[in-house]
Amino acid sequence: MQLYPKLILDALSHVRYPGTGKDLVSSEMVEDDIRIAGNTVSFSLVFDKPNDPFAKSVVKAAEQAILTYIGEEVDIKGHIAVKYKQAPRPQVEKPLAGVKHTIAVFSGKGGVGKSTVAANLAVALAKQGYRVGLLDADIHGPSIPKMFGVEDARPVMEEVEGQPRIMPVERYGIRLLSIGFFVDPGSAIVWRGGMASNALKQLITEAWWGDLDYFVIDLPPGTSDVHLTLVQTLRLTGSVIVTTPQDVALADARKGINMFRNDKIDVPILGLIENMAWFTPAELPENRYYIFGRDGGKRLAEEAHIPFLGQIPIVQSIREGGDEGVPAALHDDRLTAQAFAEVARKLAAACGD
Ligand code: ADP
Repeated sequence: MQLYPKLILDALSHVRYPGTGKDLVSSEMVEDDIRIAGNTVSFSLVFDKPNDPFAKSVVKAAEQAILTYIGEEVDIKGHIAVKYKQAPRPQVEKPLAGVKHTIAVFSGKGGVGKSTVAANLAVALAKQGYRVGLLDADIHGPSIPKMFGVEDARPVMEEVEGQPRIMPVERYGIRLLSIGFFVDPGSAIVWRGGMASNALKQLITEAWWGDLDYFVIDLPPGTSDVHLTLVQTLRLTGSVIVTTPQDVALADARKGINMFRNDKIDVPILGLIENMAWFTPAELPENRYYIFGRDGGKRLAEEAHIPFLGQIPIVQSIREGGDEGVPAALHDDRLTAQAFAEVARKLAAACGD
């Protein structure tokens, strides 16, 4: 493979500095010191502020972009130096000191509505008066920025108690951060385990989440290294399992239940939510069509002795709310909002609130 600096710069143009939303190349953050020796590439990224809390996550995103756009064989890991225009200061770590409950939302497979449920659950909890933060850790398809209509938002950096911190974006009273803020929404960057885990750890430990009653994490689907790291970095209050009633989804949900119950992980399962439980057409409000099967989630919860938090039907407005950046749970007059409110109440009760 023939490597040359322009290739590196092209790959880096897919990575954003979240504080401005601009890519690394046009922000002139890539120093003119790109060195190529065989497959090994090294260079420096320059940040304005000392201890820029975005720095490490940006480095991870840059490494990932190079592997995605140029090739997995490029030796880049650990070869990106970080420079600051001003001298760095020592950093104190106080991750999540003000957070009461940390809840990881899990699904065994993609497409069952995990992110939709996480978003609406966060909104429903906030409407019940709780202070809520939401971290989108879904490295396969970070969808929370879209669901909250903040795709163009920029998490800014502020000094808190003398330390620079990433300030989450605030929407509908909820503090949000997403792994998606680091890469172009249209880019093909696929996060790999180790890099994703590190970037996520930084979004947890170097962001200022402040005082929260609930810190909700939208996990990637399935079971992976990322799950292990998150579980080990954070002291989770517990997890919530999202599944559809369909057999294939239930089989994967079971694997998740086993993962959380594994001796090494041992995270309490606070409950199971059955999403897409039935479909009711607007013109036939009394009819229920059990498209993915009936009560599969409920039965799994009983079998596995997990609290059942409720069923969410398939409703067009839930999908539309997600696509339009206005989660359905915001509308208190609707049945869907009531369904999410009920689930949130049960979850809060499971947490002792
Ligand atoms: P996951 O996070 O599990 O991959 P998403 O939350 O992204 O799934 O949901 C997948 C798709 O299904 C999205 O288009 C979303 O709007 C839609 N969806 C999820 N739950 C429902 C529901 N209860 N009713 C209607 N559409 C839903």
